[in-house]
Amino acid sequence: MKHTKVKDLLNSTKILQEVTAKGWVRTFRNNQFIALNDGSTIHNIQCVVDFENTPEAILKRITTGAAICVSGDLVESQGAGQKYEIQVKKLEILGDSDPEKFPMQPKKHSLEFLRENAHLRIRTNAFGAIMRVRSALSFAVHQYFQQKGFVYVNTPIITGSDAEGAGEMFQVSALPFDNTPRTEEGKVNYKEDFFGKQTNLTVSGQLEAETYAMALGQVYTFGPTFRAENSNTSRHLAEFWMIEPEVAFNDLADNMDLAEDFIKYVVRYAVDNCADDLKFLESRLADEEKQKPQAERSEMTLLEKLNFVLDNNFKRVSYTEAIDILKDSTPNKKKKFQYLIEEWGADLQSEHERFLVEKHFKSPVILFDYPAKIKAFYMRLNDNTEPGKETVRAMDILFPGIGEIVGGSQREERLDVLIEKMKTLGIDEEELWWYLDTRRFGSAVHSGFGLGFERLVLFVTGMTNIRDVIPFPRTPQNAEF
Ligand code: ATP
Ligand code: MN
Repeated sequence: MKHTKVKDLLNSTKILQEVTAKGWVRTFRNNQFIALNDGSTIHNIQCVVDFENTPEAILKRITTGAAICVSGDLVESQGAGQKYEIQVKKLEILGDSDPEKFPMQPKKHSLEFLRENAHLRIRTNAFGAIMRVRSALSFAVHQYFQQKGFVYVNTPIITGSDAEGAGEMFQVSALPFDNTPRTEEGKVNYKEDFFGKQTNLTVSGQLEAETYAMALGQVYTFGPTFRAENSNTSRHLAEFWMIEPEVAFNDLADNMDLAEDFIKYVVRYAVDNCADDLKFLESRLADEEKQKPQAERSEMTLLEKLNFVLDNNFKRVSYTEAIDILKDSTPNKKKKFQYLIEEWGADLQSEHERFLVEKHFKSPVILFDYPAKIKAFYMRLNDNTEPGKETVRAMDILFPGIGEIVGGSQREERLDVLIEKMKTLGIDEEELWWYLDTRRFGSAVHSGFGLGFERLVLFVTGMTNIRDVIPFPRTPQNAEF
């Protein structure tokens, strides 16, 4: 039977006769009022059952979680809280849900409990809202780049290069674990493996995307990436989605402009298109904040935070300036940082990034020109830097509550400098022959960045654990579902 989405019923401009709705029962009150949700919106539609003329056996089966189909008239609601309701004439139970056993009872569940029930947690308001916002954001990502004429590139998920160095890799192999073929020296003989060489799941599509940028001009990837991160943090997943634009002829300043404009566009899209869901997530966050001691509570509501990002320029600060700020900071002087900042060249830990963003600048920050020593081989070496204090045209974007959301750089376009760098780091030139070809044939200035999609979703939804913004999180010791 044709049915109308709850969202469309609630947005109707007039009362309607004979509508049909299908969905899942959230609650059933007084043997009369069903709150029905079909996932099209955070709001439920109230369905009023004529209980005197409905068999007791059917009424008993209207339980939280059950799938039902109701038909009747869409009328103006007498009760408070909703404009319309369905005056039920016909009700069919499509799928029962045993109230003794259904885990998603209409009460507050802990996020931990919901994670263990990731297949059912989308039946809650919070997870319905998060996943709708996630979907809207991914649409906005494509819309942004497509409108600007970027070409969407699907870089390989199984990669033959392990030189990226962005993180620990998962190996892909079809070799047996017992009786593994060995070389004479006793090493695993990958020649006998599926691809005839060692392969991994990709940690980033950047190197391949660069080759496409050097032909198509402006490209972007949006796909899954894998890192065998053994750190169990609330910001790292073993499988996450990354967006990686790469643009020919862009220098580092252009790269920063692109990243800032892009982030603002997608956040604006969510604010404009997910108002109901964000309003709900804002109140969810406010409740969570109330559990915290006063001093740790955020000064801004979720929408204020989103609007703050939209209305303000990201602060652009060089690594060197940041180190000076950190060296002089109270937590450094009082030895409150776990890793004290003593000298130029130190890698920044998340405690330092968070200090800069949340305490010092109180704004998104773009840090740039990092020491060459702590960054990847492909980043453009700055001209005129002191020996021992070489910097590269790297940029990281740091967000309040999140830390690093973007990592990017202008790429080293000079073949000789790139090869020299690879030599120092012991990166095999032979293996990256195809990457080096981009510098051999028509090399040019180009830049790009990677944005972790889940970190963006974290920021927009106001959630605090990355496991709560991806449908089925993969983390150490956890690959359920
Ligand atoms: P971090 O220091 O937070 O581990 P990174 O320096 O390893 O990040 P990059 O290699 O620059 O990150 O990756 C680009 C972006 O991908 C990051 O800015 C972040 O948004 C995201 N990202 C990186 N690792 C993860 C992960 N394990 N889970 C989710 N997102 C990630
Ligand atoms: Mn990392």
